[in-house]
Amino acid sequence: MRLLEIENLRTTFDIHVGSVQAVRGIDLHVDEGETVGIVGESGCGKSVSMLSLLHLLPDYARVTADKIAFGGTDLTKMDAKAMRRLSGDQIGMIFQDPMTSLNPLFTVGSQLIEPLRIHKKIGEKEAAQIVLDKLRLVEIPDPESRMKQYPHELSGGMRQRIMIAMAIMCDPRLIIADEPTTALDVTIQAQILDLIASLQKKLGTAVIMITHDLGVIAGMCQRVVVMYGGVIVEEGTVREIFYQPRHPYTWGLLRSIPQKSGEKKKLVPISGSPPDLIAPPPGCPFAARCPYAMNICNSAMPPMRPVSDTHSARCYLMDEGAPDVKWEGIRA
Ligand code: SF4
Repeated sequence: MRLLEIENLRTTFDIHVGSVQAVRGIDLHVDEGETVGIVGESGCGKSVSMLSLLHLLPDYARVTADKIAFGGTDLTKMDAKAMRRLSGDQIGMIFQDPMTSLNPLFTVGSQLIEPLRIHKKIGEKEAAQIVLDKLRLVEIPDPESRMKQYPHELSGGMRQRIMIAMAIMCDPRLIIADEPTTALDVTIQAQILDLIASLQKKLGTAVIMITHDLGVIAGMCQRVVVMYGGVIVEEGTVREIFYQPRHPYTWGLLRSIPQKSGEKKKLVPISGSPPDLIAPPPGCPFAARCPYAMNICNSAMPPMRPVSDTHSARCYLMDEGAPDVKWEGIRA
């Protein structure tokens, strides 16, 4: 069953040097209990699209959409206050750096209990019990003691577990995790990803995982959406994206996952830089970096073409008569 449905979402930031077209008409859906990965480089629009959804952008952002439906409710008709109430209840957000989301002046317990008490209109004792249960759920050892501590007294991994507890506090139907492991070291990253995956299974919550790393997506998601230059360039199941990718940008992302070849690790970066979104190119946003770019690529945005019921991509190489360029897998 559809939980979230977005059609033609556009977000523009009006700043003094011009209007930045950060998100340029994306369509996206998430089913109940599904884990969807949104992948792409910094500035491709993946985080902005989710913040647009939650009305968490500054006043100089203009957000429009033909449709944003969550659990049957039309979010485009909601004001920011109603949206905050709904998102607090039904959508949990995990941000990249827990230190910037936790207030250093208050204990962890007070930061978790107080908002829950106000939001749910319940007493302090009841709220404290719910908080303790959630801290146990995210496997925080000795949660009673942790609640009395300040954020700086906890490790990065522990702080991120607190943020995850905060995100699931009201038993949301959707969790949006925005690069939840980027600020953590590698061993803790794996623990946090395992925790999110096991919570998703236990609670049946849908998850949108935003990341720049396809490696993170592989073990966690059922579907993948690849964004570039403010648009979706490819989407499909994890299998389709990893084994039959159709877009040269997805090929580049796959080649830039560190590979083990004997004793050597090989990593192939994508050369060049993303397009200027104040004056985005009229054609394919990847044309300036694409080794297969043709004349047509610079003149008009390629349409999203279906490959299967679950797989589609935005590239002129899929047209009949286009050069026969195929994904050859990750070169060792
Ligand atoms: Fe490359 Fe053209 Fe395909 Fe864009 S449309 S990815 S420039 S071949």
